[in-house]
Amino acid sequence: MVHAPAAELCSFVDASPTPFHVCATVLAELEGAGYRQIDERDPWPTEPGRYVVVRGGSLIAFSTVASTSPADPFRVVGGHTDSPNLRLKQHHDRRPEGLGVVALEPYGGAWTHSWMDRDLGVAGRLALRDGRVELVRVDEPVLRVPQLAIHLSDDRKGVQPDPQRHLDALWTVSPQGGFLSWLAGQAGIDADEVLGFDLMAHDVTPSRLVGARQDLVSAPRLDNQGTCFAGTRALLGAPDVEGVRQVLALFDHEEVGSTSERGAFSDFLTGVLERIVLAAGGTRDDVHRAIAGSVCASGDMAHATHPNRPERHEPLHHVELGGGPVLKVNQNLRYATDAVGSAAFARACEQAGVPLQRYVHRADLPCGSTIGPLSASRTGMTTVDVGAAQLAMHSVRETMAAADVPLYAAALSAFLAPQD
Ligand code: ZN
Repeated sequence: MVHAPAAELCSFVDASPTPFHVCATVLAELEGAGYRQIDERDPWPTEPGRYVVVRGGSLIAFSTVASTSPADPFRVVGGHTDSPNLRLKQHHDRRPEGLGVVALEPYGGAWTHSWMDRDLGVAGRLALRDGRVELVRVDEPVLRVPQLAIHLSDDRKGVQPDPQRHLDALWTVSPQGGFLSWLAGQAGIDADEVLGFDLMAHDVTPSRLVGARQDLVSAPRLDNQGTCFAGTRALLGAPDVEGVRQVLALFDHEEVGSTSERGAFSDFLTGVLERIVLAAGGTRDDVHRAIAGSVCASGDMAHATHPNRPERHEPLHHVELGGGPVLKVNQNLRYATDAVGSAAFARACEQAGVPLQRYVHRADLPCGSTIGPLSASRTGMTTVDVGAAQLAMHSVRETMAAADVPLYAAALSAFLAPQD
């Protein structure tokens, strides 16, 4: 197939409806390539190797096989596993007009009108009485958030739905029992054993290549599974470079501020890096020496110039679909990029032989942010925000160019394996 990497991205996204499933997908891929999972509760392995750690919806993988000293620098590719969506409320069973309705609320900056009139599945994790945590997923279209008919609307232009009143999902016309009981039954679990849950809706229409030449990707959650996929491929494809330790760090909770036990503002990355250095026989001083020489490429998706709305973009910084990876700069530190980080990523693109685009948001529009500034402030590491171009960010269905998938992965791979 011409666009094989993009088709593989589609499979990756379809396998990963929630942050927990992203971690499971990446973990399976890494274990298949010889990575070994570490439990944070266990002593850290002292021998160099390829390892992966999962903390809820966050994952850090690293390779120390080419390390020669405890103070060797890290090359880190970062990203986030979560995407804006609709999530189940604790008491979610409603019976308006005798119908079975599930109460949902937005997570992050979901473009909520795009979730209406779509076939939605449900997935997440259940915490059971005996301490087990089970991933669950139903990829059938079991939920539906219907729009109001145009004839009944008082504003035919259409508006963002009210997040409290307009986003509940119909799941049956004849409710018998609650939705959670039904879902637990689907997973073969006794509903009485479920004491906690993180459950969310997802678009069940399969991701696919579209366009007359199949050179576009139509998929949910490209922000930021585009980076999770490219970063995983980058880590697996990067050659070992003597004296460099390669890290992939994928965080949950970016879309809601990153401040949790596993977000980019947590101690997860700093803790893992510290344990790597100490387990290699290093000192506290070696931890600081290693981080002082390290660079992080914070990967997140970027705004391609919209064909119907080019005036919404900075006129000197148009970003093309298919034009290669994007360097993201914001003087007010919505992105962490500075001159030194920019140069490090530009060199990686040169090394990979891929073009580099430079993005600046319009000064009269509020700029989104990424894990970059938060992770940088926790680690003290030089950080550069980068990404791949897409349209319709935070819609239930997003679009990118198939050609950008391998270009992005190649740039991240070169970043992990600097030749200079
Ligand atoms: Zn993002």
